[in-house]
Amino acid sequence: MGLFSEKSKTIDLGGEPMQCLVCGNDHFWQRDAQLNTAGLTFLGLDWANASAVCCVCDGCGYIHWFLPK
Ligand SMILES: [Zn+2]
Repeated sequence: MGLFSEKSKTIDLGGEPMQCLVCGNDHFWQRDAQLNTAGLTFLGLDWANASAVCCVCDGCGYIHWFLPK
C-alpha cells in the first residue's frame, strides 16, 4: 500500500469486475500510460502516440495493460 495516494477501486470490464491474473484481487489503481517510447516504435506500432490504461493490482502489484481499441 502507499504506492498511490488515492484508494484503489474495482474495474468494470463489460459488466464483470476485473480480477488480477496473479492473485485474484479485484481492486486496482488505474493510470494512463503513454506509448510513445522508442521501444514501442521499434516494434512497429504506428499508433505509438496513443495511451494505454494500466491497472495496478492492489494486492500484488501486477500491472495489467489495456490498449485502446
Ligand atoms: Zn494481484
